[in-house]
Order: sequence, then C-alpha cells, then structure tokens
Amino acid sequence: MTSSPFPLKPGATIGILGGGQLGRMLALAAARLGFDVAILTPEADAPASRVAAHTVLAPYNDPAALKDLAQRCAVVTFEFENVPAEVVAALHGLGVPTAPSDLALATAQDRAIEKTFFRDQGIATVDFVAIDSADDIIAGLARLGAPALLKTRREGYDGKGQSWVSTPDEAHDAFDRLGRVPMILEARAPFVRELSIIAARAHDGTVAAYPLTENTHKGGVLHLSVAPAQAMASTHAAASALARTTLERLGYVGVAGIELFELETGDLLVNEFAPRVHNSGHWTLDACEVDQFEQHIRAIAGWPLGPTEPFAKARMENLLGAEVDDWATLAAEPGARLWLYGKRETVAGRKMGHVTRLGPLG
Ligand code: AMP
Repeated sequence: MTSSPFPLKPGATIGILGGGQLGRMLALAAARLGFDVAILTPEADAPASRVAAHTVLAPYNDPAALKDLAQRCAVVTFEFENVPAEVVAALHGLGVPTAPSDLALATAQDRAIEKTFFRDQGIATVDFVAIDSADDIIAGLARLGAPALLKTRREGYDGKGQSWVSTPDEAHDAFDRLGRVPMILEARAPFVRELSIIAARAHDGTVAAYPLTENTHKGGVLHLSVAPAQAMASTHAAASALARTTLERLGYVGVAGIELFELETGDLLVNEFAPRVHNSGHWTLDACEVDQFEQHIRAIAGWPLGPTEPFAKARMENLLGAEVDDWATLAAEPGARLWLYGKRETVAGRKMGHVTRLGPLG
C-alpha cells in the first residue's frame, strides 16, 4: 500500500491547467506557502506563467504535455472551466491526483447537466428547457413565458453565448446566431439582486464558506462586488447550506463559486456553478486572513482550511479594458488595493486587473 502524499509538503509542485489571472493569483498563493507551480497553457507569455516556476506550453489535450505535467506535479488543478474534462481524467489516469474532480468540471461545463444536478439536490434554479432546434424555442417560449434567455449549453461565460428571445418569430435568428449548437432556454429570473457564495471543501470533508457577496454586472461582465452582502439571516443560511450540499454531493475538493439570484422574498435561485476560484471572491485577497486563492491551494494540498470571516467590508471593482490605464491614480489613492494581471494587450471589456477598497464592518 502506498501512503497518501497528503498533506503536500512545501517544496512540492502544484500543476495548474490554464494561464490566466486566476492561475496567476493561485500561483502567487502557492508560492507564499512554499510550493512551486507548473502551468499548462496553450498561450505563450501567459499572465500565470510569468509568476510560476515552470510552464508547459502546449494544447490541453497534448498527450506528451500531460505526461510531462503529471511527472512534475504532486497534484493538478485548473483555473479555467473550459479545459476538457477528459484532460483532467487523463491526468488522473497518469497517476497524479487532480482536484477538483473531472466529475465536478463536467457537471459545470454543460448548463443542462448543471441545472439538473441542482434540481436533483432539491436546490432551486430558474425553470428551463433543453433546445435542439428553433421549433424547441417556440415550444419553450409557450411553456416558460416571454422573454426567455437562450444560452448555449457549453462554453458560455461573461454573458457570451446568450440571447434574449421575446417572440416566436425571433426563434430562428436566435438559434442561428448562437451557432445552432445544443442550448437551453431559461425563464427570466425575477431577481432583485445578484449574489454569489464562495466556498471550499477540504480532503477531510470540512466545508468553509465566505459570506455572501453582492454583484453588479455591466454588459454581462462582473463590474462590482460588495461583501459581506447585506441580506436576511435566512438568506445567508440558505446560501451556506446549498453550497455545502453542492460540494458534498460532488465530493468536491477545492474552492468553488456559486452564482445566485435573490428574489424579493429573499429566496435564492442558483444561476451557475464555477468549479474554481471566482471573480466575485477577489475581495477576499484584501479583507480575509486566508483568501480564496490560498484556500484553494490549502484544500488541494490536503492542508487545513483557513478562516473565512472578513475583518473589513470590501468593495471590489474590476478594471476592464482601458480602465486599467488609471493604474497610476489608483496606486496613489490611499486605501485602494490594486491588483494588475500583467496582460500584454489591453482589449475592450477584458479583465485587466481589479481594485479593492475596505471599510468598517457593520
Ligand atoms: P450567466 O452567463 O449565466 O452567468 O449570465 C450572465 C448574466 O445574465 C447574469 O449575471 C444575469 O445578470 C443575466 N442572466 C442570466 N440568466 C438569467 C435569467 N434566467 N434571467 C434573468 N437574467 C439572467
């Protein structure tokens, strides 16, 4: 019998699939705990590569690259949910532990499977129907009411791969516009606010959740997160309970983000589940003893989870596109905590960095 490699000792190498800003902040957290990081990314000069000990530059499904990564690493995780779930399964097959599992990733990658999973756990989501043709959209509108939101089942994020449909005559155009791929049609959620909860599950089954975050989007992209969100005690309790159920039922290890719609009654509907650290949890970097990135590294390394209670109220704003050009002003602003992602090219709407400002709790 081989003994468990967990808890990983400082000096071990942690593999991350994906080279974006989430990988960069995970790599910084890992380095702080004495780990080395190896990134697998198809992108040369990626933001995460520039703070990691090693990069394997290759497509995610390159067999030689996966073998190389498996040999270097004591555990492999991912920062990007469109990594094929088979890649995570293949790494596991090569004998390297992976966390979260390919099951969690596959569940989150398909909106129909994801919503069905939540319903099976008794967790409310918006009503939806699976769509394989324009005629399905017409039937779906009759069932769900108009307007309804058409979303591709796979690879949608930040409002991409979505289109509102108000009348049956728009069905054909909308189906064509989103690429005639498998989709779902969702009833319009009558939400008063968008919230999210970031939670972690450790190897030993311990679950720890950060308090609810209130999120505002601009053009489908997260703009502002405020935490802890002001909400009824019953809403906080419901969010923690659904996060716990989700992570337990998936046998999850690591940090996950769950996006929620709050109804006027305070009841919650799950919008979606991200099997990774989440943009709406960036405020934890500056307002918590152990932030979501360190928490994820702790979880996948088999370390104990850290505390999740904030010591300040936080207001995190994303710097999208040219907003990052204000870096010098932000750097000079007392109390503004600036995080820049080192992206080489500023593109409109692209997440280039974020800034967090703290205030008193209460
Ligand atoms: P998503 O890509 O599913 O996170 O959706 C992006 C944004 O679209 C959400 O943050 C909401 O603002 C909005 N949205 C998504 N689904 C619905 C829905 N069923 N009803 C109303 N708004 C929605």
